[in-house]
Amino acid sequence: MVRQQKIESIRNKLVRKMEELWSNAGHTLSKMKNDDGRFADPFDQAAIESNKYVELACRDRERELMLDIKETILRIDRGLYGICDHCGRVIHEKRLLIEPMSKLCMECQKEKERNHKRKNRQWAMKDISYNHV
Ligand SMILES: [Zn+2]
Repeated sequence: MVRQQKIESIRNKLVRKMEELWSNAGHTLSKMKNDDGRFADPFDQAAIESNKYVELACRDRERELMLDIKETILRIDRGLYGICDHCGRVIHEKRLLIEPMSKLCMECQKEKERNHKRKNRQWAMKDISYNHV
């Protein structure tokens, strides 16, 4: 398979993943609407609204993922996919197959991870608290 075909198959996978995330999100929205029946009482309405807020906040990571996928598809369509954002070198195909949303080559990614180690640790802590909610 030539590189372009590989990129095309990655694009197809990303589109499918996107659709999956969208349908999950849609399911959540309809569930929120139906759980407590009609929005008769204004206090019920408020309760539903706050539940909705919590649920949407918990879905931040999915939303982020959707944005990442969307951006990656755009990069493919613009012919920018597989090129390192930082140094402009071609990102190795193996890396793209493992991490299709990579925007950096291996070297620049390592560099970035070194620079953001502290920040990444904070994100890791956040992940732990998410799991306990
Ligand atoms: Zn690079």
